[in-house]
Amino acid sequence: MTPDEKFCESCGIPLSAPQAKGPSDTYCVYCTDDQGNLHAWDDMLAGTAGFLDSWQKVGPEEARKRAFRYLTAMPAWAHKADPQ
Ligand SMILES: [Zn+2]
Repeated sequence: MTPDEKFCESCGIPLSAPQAKGPSDTYCVYCTDDQGNLHAWDDMLAGTAGFLDSWQKVGPEEARKRAFRYLTAMPAWAHKADPQ
């Protein structure tokens, strides 16, 4: 790890990881479309929840809560943490 290592501001993975770097310098290839635009919040939440459920087997409801907590800790999604 180097001091200037960059991390995806949406999901936190290192942008130096193999195949993580896409058109954007801020976000990884998984969080953006092929133009480097960040995916919609609902898509990110659903995608992260699906990943967590398949990995941790916590069920869709708990996976969605965990995905919400995880993503709202990221700079790109901190504004979504406000209770509505
Ligand atoms: Zn990302």
